Amino acid sequence: MAGIYIHIPFCFTRCGYCDFYKTTNLSKMGMFLGALKDEIQLRSKNFDHVIDTVYFGGGTPSLVKPGAFEQLFDVMRSEFQFSENTEITIEANPDDIKVVYCDGILKSGFNRISIGIQSFMDTDLRQMGRRHNAEQALRSIETVKKAGFKNISIDLIYGLPWSDDATFSRNLEIFSSLDVQHLSAYHLTFEPGTSFYDLLKKGVYKEVQDSSSTQQYKLLCNVAKQAGMEHYEISNFCKPDYVSRHNSSYWHSIPYIGFGPGSHSYYDKKRRWNKPDLGLYVSGNFEKISEEEQLDVTDMFNESIMLGLRTSLGINLLETKGRFSTFYPEFITRVQKWLESKYVVMDDGFLKCTEEGWFLADAIIGDLFVEK
Ligand code: SF4
Repeated sequence: MAGIYIHIPFCFTRCGYCDFYKTTNLSKMGMFLGALKDEIQLRSKNFDHVIDTVYFGGGTPSLVKPGAFEQLFDVMRSEFQFSENTEITIEANPDDIKVVYCDGILKSGFNRISIGIQSFMDTDLRQMGRRHNAEQALRSIETVKKAGFKNISIDLIYGLPWSDDATFSRNLEIFSSLDVQHLSAYHLTFEPGTSFYDLLKKGVYKEVQDSSSTQQYKLLCNVAKQAGMEHYEISNFCKPDYVSRHNSSYWHSIPYIGFGPGSHSYYDKKRRWNKPDLGLYVSGNFEKISEEEQLDVTDMFNESIMLGLRTSLGINLLETKGRFSTFYPEFITRVQKWLESKYVVMDDGFLKCTEEGWFLADAIIGDLFVEK
């Protein structure tokens, strides 16, 4: 089984925190969709796997019309074999979600929708530079439910510099009243190249204090648990049986192929990516836009540590010992101090982060990495 990721590099406006590859000039949308079909037809020849998940991310995929999706699915279905129950996700902005649009995308084949809510508070949304307001956020969830989506995910952002724990708690209260199947919640990061990063450097924004970040993460974990959700990855929660199969495939090293400028792929032990260059992409010169890197044993070890500790499944110790026998003794020695600190546990042959440990996952993973 394998996945397809398609990057739609268009947005109406730029959110202050976002470093995803996108342009706000929509004039090349038609050329882009044409080039996308060409790329799928060209590259599918080297990717001989049954497709179990398709994910349209961006950018703002909900700027694409349902008819264009139908054409893309026709191309994909003629090039790939799909599993019986393929998970097909679209990322959507709340203000794009209208009844007619939902009917169209359901008809074209989507069965999962991930809505970029980010916050239910107007003050947060304005500061973040989002196009929608709190009322549209709530209405979008009602609309997708009424349209018939049975697998709904929402995104929230916490750790906002102008906000506080009480406001995030109010966001979580609203979330838990909505009965959606999946939640992705990310701490705000200040990424170079974003307007938020510039404001941080100018001293307009400050990183939130660690105590507040920890408090908000704990609130998040508690509310999600009370809402009957499983915490299956650092930032992801779901109702039983609603794990994002697509994102899980990244964390479990299942092969996937990416299309569109700025997309990434992983298969045949190689990471591949398309340069984030829409102009080059629409020229159809796919050889020039594509780059790749062969993973060596150190890369593969580090990746398996990073991916394993991000998920509730953890690291399979027996498998790690077999695959990475050279690194294993040093790895087990280093793990001891984290076991003593109770930030990781051994559970039935798997090494896992505890909930407190997940908040320190970057430090733990960095410590267990092998240097190249
Ligand atoms: S957060 Fe989403 S809508 Fe906002 S600029 Fe980034 S990709 Fe576009």
